[in-house]
Amino acid sequence: MAKYVYLFSEGNAKMRDVLGGKGAGLAEMTRIGLPVPPGFTITTAACNYFSAKGRFPPGLKATIATALAKVERKAGRKLGDPKRPLLISVRSGAKFSMPGMMDTVLNIGLNDRTVAALAAGAGNERFVWDAYRRLLQMFGRIVRDIEPRRFEAILDAWKAKTAGGKDTDLTAGDLRMIVDEFKAVYKAEGKDFPQDPRRQLDEAIMAVFQSWNGKRAVDYRNFHKIPHDLGTAANVQAMVLGNLGEDSGTGVVFTRDPATGERSLYGEYLANAQGEDVVAGIRTPLKVVDLKDRMPRIYRELDRHAMRLEKHYRELQDIEFTVEGGKLWVLQTRAGKRTAKAAVKVAVEMANERLITREEAVRRVEPAQVIQLLMPRFDERAKEAARKEGRLLARGLNASPGAATGIVVFDPDEAERLGRDEKVPLIMVRTETSPDDVHGMLHSKGILTSHGGATSHASVVARGLGLPCVVGAESIRVDYEDESFSAGETIVRKGEAISIDGTTGEVFAGRIPTMAADFQNERELLTLLSWADKIRRLEVWANADYPRDAVRAREFGAQGIGLCRTEHMFFEQERLPIVQRMILAATEAERKAALDELLPIQRGDFKGVFEAMGSLPVVIRLIDPPLHEFLPKYEDLLVEATELRLTGKDPARLAEVERLLKAVASMREANPMLGLRGCRLGIMIPGVTEMQVRAVFEAACELRKAGQDPHPEVMIPLVGHVNELKVERGKLERVAKQVMEEQGVKVDYKFGTMIEIPRAALTADEIAKYAEFFSFGTNDLTQTTFGYSRDDAEGKFLMAYVQRGILPVNPFQVLDRRGVGQLMRMAVERGRAARPDLEIGICGEHGGDPESIAFCHEIGLKYVSCSPFRVPVARIAAAHAALKEKAGPKGTD
Ligand code: ADP
Ligand code: MG
Ligand code: MG
Repeated sequence: MAKYVYLFSEGNAKMRDVLGGKGAGLAEMTRIGLPVPPGFTITTAACNYFSAKGRFPPGLKATIATALAKVERKAGRKLGDPKRPLLISVRSGAKFSMPGMMDTVLNIGLNDRTVAALAAGAGNERFVWDAYRRLLQMFGRIVRDIEPRRFEAILDAWKAKTAGGKDTDLTAGDLRMIVDEFKAVYKAEGKDFPQDPRRQLDEAIMAVFQSWNGKRAVDYRNFHKIPHDLGTAANVQAMVLGNLGEDSGTGVVFTRDPATGERSLYGEYLANAQGEDVVAGIRTPLKVVDLKDRMPRIYRELDRHAMRLEKHYRELQDIEFTVEGGKLWVLQTRAGKRTAKAAVKVAVEMANERLITREEAVRRVEPAQVIQLLMPRFDERAKEAARKEGRLLARGLNASPGAATGIVVFDPDEAERLGRDEKVPLIMVRTETSPDDVHGMLHSKGILTSHGGATSHASVVARGLGLPCVVGAESIRVDYEDESFSAGETIVRKGEAISIDGTTGEVFAGRIPTMAADFQNERELLTLLSWADKIRRLEVWANADYPRDAVRAREFGAQGIGLCRTEHMFFEQERLPIVQRMILAATEAERKAALDELLPIQRGDFKGVFEAMGSLPVVIRLIDPPLHEFLPKYEDLLVEATELRLTGKDPARLAEVERLLKAVASMREANPMLGLRGCRLGIMIPGVTEMQVRAVFEAACELRKAGQDPHPEVMIPLVGHVNELKVERGKLERVAKQVMEEQGVKVDYKFGTMIEIPRAALTADEIAKYAEFFSFGTNDLTQTTFGYSRDDAEGKFLMAYVQRGILPVNPFQVLDRRGVGQLMRMAVERGRAARPDLEIGICGEHGGDPESIAFCHEIGLKYVSCSPFRVPVARIAAAHAALKEKAGPKGTD
């Protein structure tokens, strides 16, 4: 027969699979000589047997009896013994901690006979009756499935009759009566409370096993991607009693402060209490450090055990302990949950203390924790106060982390004016956002939308800009006409302040003070990142359109610019009219005039970016979106024209609007995403891209002459057929050479393309002949591979797909390895076969997503490029990918 039962003295820390986390911890602590009440663990395999067959494996009951006898001998007490009864707990514990999901039953072994014996012996009758009522309550809820309210109502009624109204005000006599009433509840429910302690034990074990398949636990595992076939162990352990009087108590202690990472014991202790009392907040507990004065001997011992465990596990420990009549017992130890700040500090300090290696320190910090650290955040106390004052207006999706507070503005033009010219901190509120709103978003502190999902325009842009953003706050109603939004009863008008928390999705009325993240002063984070840099193979570049983004990107450690989008520059207010003139030009001369006006402006933009990046590479993507995006919307023009026609008011404007309308109508496409954009623009309307390339090289030559060493890489978007690249590159490289000749200097440059159309990936060998570099545009590549419109899919069906499990995740957020990834892998192989030194990176949104970064590492890309704020995150994620590879296919766990 398989071994289903292990005494604590037989197991060890490595046996988490078999004994669960709690059982392995209890065994390990026993093994190294800590004071652990004796007990044994029934394995996860027994649970799985029970789940499959509905009964214990053959022989298990006898094995339990043997183990129990050994525990009884150690404890000097016997289960059910009328003179010296042993009390035991049955505690669940799976391989991975699932806090609050499964059950534990305390005080097993009490019945009418043992209660009487204990009450007579202990000299503490109250305690005995209190323990009995707890058993009835827990057993009822967990094993007999009796509505907990039934017991609580009785307890509340009795408490109300006492002077103080608290648990501790109940007398032994009260508790006795309560026990009688609890038993009556069992009767009324047609359920029994077993007086036989062994039956109590067996049934509690079965209930713990059953709790593995309880709805809560199943949902939790689904959410956290924990396999369902692991099963839980059941730990049977002699009780130690924290509620025996003032020299007893129970507590929790962390070996370091889990909020700050500070190296000192941190935790709480409640005298004369049992189990969950500390958490339940019945009485105010003491801080563990206060035990130093109150119970110096216990404190010293606790400190010694805590330090021992931390050293032993080489990890911050969260330890449960109980004091029974002045003797300390340790009941549980596990890795402590901690804030992002503490995670980084603890990891770095432990490495400096030589407790762990630097690689291990890097491995222990999650990329998501780095994101949190870099965002401005609310002062937690102020936020708590706001909640208490009822200022929480709504909850939406936490689309982009960080905290922002400012006045509400609805109109993007107004946001731009107020934010840029008057430096007013503001939050832009929209139903949804579109490219037309970006100029306003650029000058906002945060974005709030009532619609949209995690990859809606607002989410993607906000993440790109590092702006806190809450989307899909469906309970607010935005009224643009009235310039207000409502949330339930509350109406918030333009100019009134709100605060949004993009980390949690909360929206508050009024201001909440924020604390800025100060990257250069996050000393431990900087140290950790420098360690990560030594581990990773992937380079981390940044997507930056403006010189100020490039500066920031470098501060965050970017090793290049992987995507500089030129069209965002066109959207700036003073440039848009020139761009429109260029698009609408009736003659070549008119178009040339507009392009000549744009040239120095673009040159200035590029110069700024090159200067910021020194001799690091800068990938500049030529104009990409369909030109009508730079013009007013067809529908808006139609409305305006109709109005003007009806009123006959402004004939000059009408003529202008009609001209625009005609132009826009002629540019309308049924599928603009598949339309005249990307390299097709440069081929059909050569002037624009030629102007851009001239601007790139004039800027680079100027800097070269000034003694600098810029490295421009010109990127041609949306290539699907090699001939597109061949034609476009040939023409543009001639411009480049001409500029360098005019200027009399040479710069080091590359021409390359985005791989964002499946056909380009499939024919990468042909394409590589004309490209010195590839950059995966995985936003478009995902769109074109799935055939999902990025602009519509999320709202219409994509979120529903994810919810129903048709898709595991949103492929616009996490790269689809199987489909899109296969195309990428193929493009890498074929591209490199044709040109071995081909430089390959990724510049889609996925470049900042840790899981996608791991994939980019696997297929051997040179770099990932992401928004500047994501650079530190990507540095950690890239290091994780390298560590995982080093650990081999089995991983490190
Ligand atoms: P959880 O997994 O929810 O933390 P536990 O099995 O740790 O559940 O039990 C909850 C609490 O019950 C413990 O923190 C401890 O205070 C108390 N408890 C469990 N077993 C014992 C025991 N043998 N002696 C004293 N207290 C116990
Ligand atoms: Mg516990
Ligand atoms: Mg694209």
